[in-house]
Formats: sequence, structure tokens, C-alpha cells
Amino acid sequence: MVVHVDGKVGEDLLAEWGRKYFAVFFREGDKYVGVLAAELKTLPKEIEPWVRDIYPTSSNIQLASREYKDELRLIRLGTDIEIGGSSSRTLMIAGPCSVESEEQIDQTAHFMKEIGVRIIRAGCYKPRTSPYAFQGSGKKGLEWLVAAGKKYGLKVITEVRDATHFDEVADLSDIIQVGAKAMYDQGILRGCGRSRKPVLIKRGFGSTLQEFVQAAEFVLSGGNTQVMLCERGIRSFETKTRFTLDLCGVAYLKYHTNLPIIVDPSHAMGAAYGVSDLSAAALAMGVDGLLIEVHPCPSRALSDAAQQLDFQSFRSLYKRLDSLAQAVSRPLL
Ligand code: PEP
Ligand code: MN
Repeated sequence: MVVHVDGKVGEDLLAEWGRKYFAVFFREGDKYVGVLAAELKTLPKEIEPWVRDIYPTSSNIQLASREYKDELRLIRLGTDIEIGGSSSRTLMIAGPCSVESEEQIDQTAHFMKEIGVRIIRAGCYKPRTSPYAFQGSGKKGLEWLVAAGKKYGLKVITEVRDATHFDEVADLSDIIQVGAKAMYDQGILRGCGRSRKPVLIKRGFGSTLQEFVQAAEFVLSGGNTQVMLCERGIRSFETKTRFTLDLCGVAYLKYHTNLPIIVDPSHAMGAAYGVSDLSAAALAMGVDGLLIEVHPCPSRALSDAAQQLDFQSFRSLYKRLDSLAQAVSRPLL
């Protein structure tokens, strides 16, 4: 159950209700938004006099549910980039898996600018499966990425691997990426809830849709309204592709949640050849954006080499998507 509570209620009362009813309250303008345990079917008598509106929700999807907010949430970046809401655009996010050098990220940013992509992605703190693989360029990489973004007028999204560099990433990036492996990290999620930067949460590859949306609830219940979900493939019995892109899940999320949905075909497929087809399928479904890995020389990439597109392949993918986007009235942004 979600409730809107009069802003004049004292913090002491809110804290007491929080303990008693496992409720979370956060300030939104002149009121408080409160989320009470979904199992609670009737509003406790002591809260009632302070409540302005009640939104019953039927599951543990609360702030992200259509029952609470029927319209798609809007995310704003600067003055001219709008994701979700009634924008009906398909946001393109592209860039290498990792920042590897100043030259590599500069070259990619230059290419993005030339194509018309507005947001560059690249990881600086990489959550690798092996401790003996490239772990990312860290702070240095972040500085190169931010500098390239500034130079070419691009917004920047990069991943938080753990709490040690949360503030650094939250300060310097335009969108905070929570990776598939970090989807359950409550330190990161709560940090995102305190931040007022847009957040993109990737689905853990072993996570149900319910768990995925509940990760978003941690951020939303911290008072950060700008959350996007990113489907990037889940583990199935199939071994011919790296993961299985769950487009059923995307349809579920579009129908049941009010969060913009981004699809990442690169990590799902794990091979460059499938990325264009998966992007086309997701775009035709009407997702809010695509996140695609692009590298100046994929064969030399230090992470995810097999799935990254070279510039030429990205150019033809972009052309294909551009006409498809016109046909389904969701122009590329
Ligand atoms: C990435 O975006 O490079 C990445 C590590 O993705 P994921 O968290 O989906 O594995
Ligand atoms: Mn990657």
C-alpha cells in the first residue's frame, strides 16, 4: 500500500510508524510518500487522519507499480534529453565495455558525436568474474571518460562496482549504472536512493522479475524517482548464446511497472553478430532505450571482446534502427 501523508506530520510519528508497520516514508515536495507492507489490507487507524491519498497495491511492487502511478516515469538529463514519460523516443546508449585508455575513449566519443548518439557508456570499475582479468582503469578511467563526454557534449553512464567508489561515480557520471552482479547490493542501492542522479539497474542474470523490480524499490523508496530497468539477458539451459534475452520479461515490466525499460542486447548475445537483430526486436516492442557495446577495435578489447561492435557495424546497425524507429513512431534519441 502506498499513501500520501500530510507534510506537517512530525518525523517522530513517521519513525514510530516505520518501526511498527515496516513502513518507509520519504519527502516529495510538500508531502511524504509512505510505503507500507503489501500484506497490510487496511490502513492503521493512527495513520488515517494524516493520509491524503491511498493507493492499494497487490504485490511487493509498490512505487514502481502501475497501481500507484499509471504513467511512465520521466527521466531528464540536462535540458533536452527525456527518457520515458510521454516522450516516445528510443534512447541510444553506446560505448565500449571498459575505458581502456584516454585515446580509446576519446576516439569512441568522437564517433558517437558523429553518429548522433547522446550518451556514452563505459565501465571504469569492472566487476570481473576472475580477479586475474582486467579490473578496469579506475579513477583515471573515470576522468578520461568524463573529459571525453565534456569534449564532445555527451552524457556519461558508468558502473558502480562497490561502495568504495560510490561517491566518485555518483558525482562524476550523469547516470549511475548498477551492474547485474551488483543488483542485490543494498549499500549501492541505498546510495542510489540518496542520490538525485538517474539510475540504471541491470537485471541480475539469476534474478526473477520480482527481485529485479524490488531492487528498483530500494532506490525509489530513498526518494530518487529517476530509475530505469535494463534487461541484459538471464542464464538459461542454452549455451550457444551467452545469456537469453528475456523479452517476455520486458513485456511484463512494460505492462506492470512505471519504469522506463532499456534493453542491452550485447551482454545477452555475447557475440557481435546477433546484436543488430536483438536491438531491432527490442526497438519494435517499444522499449525506452538500447544499450550497446561499441569499441574502436573489438578484437583488442580488454573485456567483452566478442560482443562489441566495431564502428562500421554500429553505423549500419544505427541506420537499420533509424528507419525501424520511424516505422514504429519511436524515433531514436
Ligand atoms: C557492462 O555493462 O559492461 C556489464 C558489466 O554488464 P552486466 O552488469 O550486465 O554484466
Ligand atoms: Mn561489458
